[in-house]
Amino acid sequence: MEGRRYFLVTMGCQMNRHDSARMAEALYGAGLEPAVSLADADLCVVNTCCVRDKAENKARSAIGRLAAWKRRRPGRTVVVAGCVAERLGPGWLAAFPHVDAVLGPDRLDALALVAAGPAREPLVSTGFAAGVPSDFLAARPDLVAPGPTAFVTVSKGCSQHCTFCIVPAVRGGLRCRPAAAVAAEAAALIAAGARELVLLGQAVNDYAHDGAGFAALLRRVGAVAGLRRLRYTSPHPRFVDEDTVRAHADIAPLCEHVHLPIQSGADPVLHRMGRRISREEILRRIDALRRARPGMTFGTDVIVGFPGETDEQAGETVSLVRQAGFTQVFAFAYSPRPGTAAERFADDVPASVKAERLRRVQDAADAVADAHRRSLVGATVEVLLEGPSDRGGGSWQGRTRNNDVVHVEATDGTASPGSFVEVAVTETRPHCVIGVPRVVDR
Ligand code: SF4
Repeated sequence: MEGRRYFLVTMGCQMNRHDSARMAEALYGAGLEPAVSLADADLCVVNTCCVRDKAENKARSAIGRLAAWKRRRPGRTVVVAGCVAERLGPGWLAAFPHVDAVLGPDRLDALALVAAGPAREPLVSTGFAAGVPSDFLAARPDLVAPGPTAFVTVSKGCSQHCTFCIVPAVRGGLRCRPAAAVAAEAAALIAAGARELVLLGQAVNDYAHDGAGFAALLRRVGAVAGLRRLRYTSPHPRFVDEDTVRAHADIAPLCEHVHLPIQSGADPVLHRMGRRISREEILRRIDALRRARPGMTFGTDVIVGFPGETDEQAGETVSLVRQAGFTQVFAFAYSPRPGTAAERFADDVPASVKAERLRRVQDAADAVADAHRRSLVGATVEVLLEGPSDRGGGSWQGRTRNNDVVHVEATDGTASPGSFVEVAVTETRPHCVIGVPRVVDR
């Protein structure tokens, strides 16, 4: 193993980025060093995503390009991991004979089998384990120091079966981790220097283990000594219950920002998507959270051009973005995914109409976000510094509790990643605000 170096290519969502971090720790623990570039590496893992067809095509191109890379040095190893590994399994070997291992998202522990070099036979490991605690790879802060923000997995898979979503097929049904294991990993990360924790799951607030629900988990993690900020992603609006609302009122570290995917603002579309919640109920739950924690802001995910979506229904999504005041919106044009219920629906919204609806949602979202950022000018906000800003001049970049990106003019030199700074906001820019530091709290 001596001298072998690994390179990780990560595509897709936060869950994949988290899995990549766990794989990096496993490889480091097995004696490999991180490579500075692909050219420098002996083992390359491509952690794939198939939530949208563009991401899956990107994964195929990346794997295809590794054939020439592998030929250039004996012993090089190509690993396909993540959702497309799960979806195609041994199909990868037929299409790309240079692939040495195919590992589904629940089989990352098998990475150790190819860390030393390609096995005699290609390795294919997919499928879902039975949900025992050891299925969850915990962070190793003893090996790799966490940054200011650290992620903790609370569940895997999802049992909601929204009709457009491939996640249940490629990541399996919901499996929850014991609250004690989540709290222990949270405490270890905070002790190792993390200041902010993000609880991670596909429908994170569908959590239930040993009779305890999501609100109880929030209370347990929220009580970890030294934790300054707590977030979670991504919740389903239908599981925002009264206990969760009360938790937002009671738990000081819980931040005043929730990313709450709505997907659509029109009831007929929500129904066809299998979301099992109405527009009115989504708004009621947002209102309840706002009442529990004044100053709360929300982000969301939106799909436009779902099969059967009319122009009027697309307009209802635009109006919900405005009415709910989402300050961060990730909007996507619908693309059918294999194995989902919606694959059987006629994909009847032309691409040009999807593009137009996407633009309307984005324009509305930009207007809401601009107004929110302007409202911050003159205010003093708490910023958790993440690292140097690309604005240069010794300035820093960080986030508020409302998840606003802030560029902070040069501090007095005592700040570092993980410092909290009181910042007076002076001006806005697209996607961020600028401010000057008042107080640094290391
Ligand atoms: S709740 Fe989220 S992850 Fe689960 S099926 Fe629906 S969209 Fe997919």
